[in-house]
Amino acid sequence: MAKSYTCSSLVKDCTWSTTANDTATLMKKIVAHAEFKHDLQLSTADKIKIQSSIRG
Ligand SMILES: [Zn+2]
Repeated sequence: MAKSYTCSSLVKDCTWSTTANDTATLMKKIVAHAEFKHDLQLSTADKIKIQSSIRG
């Protein structure tokens, strides 16, 4: 089953979500989105928080 993530877990008002077949691919998409849309450089703590919010 695909893994999914919704950006609102990190950025409250953002409705962006994404899916991928594995966590590594999903994380790359999330990092790219955070940089381009939110101008965020994700810290290790942010990534841990994101990983705990991934469903699937
Ligand atoms: Zn977002």
